[in-house]
This record gives sequence, C-alpha cells and structure tokens, in this order.
Amino acid sequence: MDTPQRSRPLPTPERQVRTAQRIAGRQHPWSECQRCGACCRHLIVEVGHEDVAREPRIAERGILLDGHGKLKAEEWCWSLTGVLGSRVCPFLTCDNLCEIYATRPLCCAAFMPGSDLCRKVRKMDKQEGRIRNK
Ligand code: SF4
Ligand code: SF4
Repeated sequence: MDTPQRSRPLPTPERQVRTAQRIAGRQHPWSECQRCGACCRHLIVEVGHEDVAREPRIAERGILLDGHGKLKAEEWCWSLTGVLGSRVCPFLTCDNLCEIYATRPLCCAAFMPGSDLCRKVRKMDKQEGRIRNK
C-alpha cells in the first residue's frame, strides 16, 4: 500500500529571491575590484583608434598591429602586452595600479570584477604564487 505523500508547499516569492541572491552571491562573492592586477597581467588588450585618440600614450607604448603593413590606417589597432610574450600591460605599475586609469581603454573600463574571466586570471596568478587569499 502506498503511503500518502505530503506535497511540498511552493517557495514564497521572497524565498525565491533569497535563493537567487544566494546563488548569485556564490558566483560573485565580491563585486568590488580587488586591485590584484591579474587581468592586466594575463590578458592581451587590443584597443582601437578611439582609445588612442583619448590616450596617445597607448600608441607610444602599445604594439601596433597593422597586419605587417597590409592594413589601412583606419584598420590598425594596438596591443597592450608590454614585452611580447610577457603579457604585461606597459601601463600596469608595480603597485598593480593603472597608470592611465582615467583614460584607460574602454574594454578595460568595461571589464567586470568577479566575472568568470576575472576569476580565471586570478587563478592563474594564484598558481604563480602572486595571490594568496580569495
Ligand atoms: S583580475 Fe579582477 S579583481 Fe583583479 S584587478 Fe582585474 S578586475 Fe580587479
Ligand atoms: S590599460 Fe590599465 S586597466 Fe588596461 S590592461 Fe593596462 S594597466 Fe590594466
């Protein structure tokens, strides 16, 4: 004989919100940048003319990507990798600050602290022994 099953009450809307917040919190336990500089160390930042127009030092210190002379000037972009192979942005200071913070490339300004990519590069830093916490 089957035992009667007690049906579970549906979670209240308040509880659903709390659960969603808890899950989101697990994925993004912090939304503030930790100023570790990992994104500036591990990612190749490619920037375009509008960034160079705002911050001319990008053209001075970045690496010009002109398709080995095959691209037209309007198609050029610049890569912020410091020394090729080291993948360190030439504007990252030894205090992990951005030397051109106020005029940094838009893709840098749009980078999301706590995002999957942020976590990935922080993990790379951790593996290299740069970050000890979080
Ligand atoms: S890797 Fe994330 S936490 Fe570190 S500086 Fe970049 S955005 Fe901030
Ligand atoms: S320009 Fe500034 S924010 Fe962008 S990668 Fe370089 S140091 Fe980081």
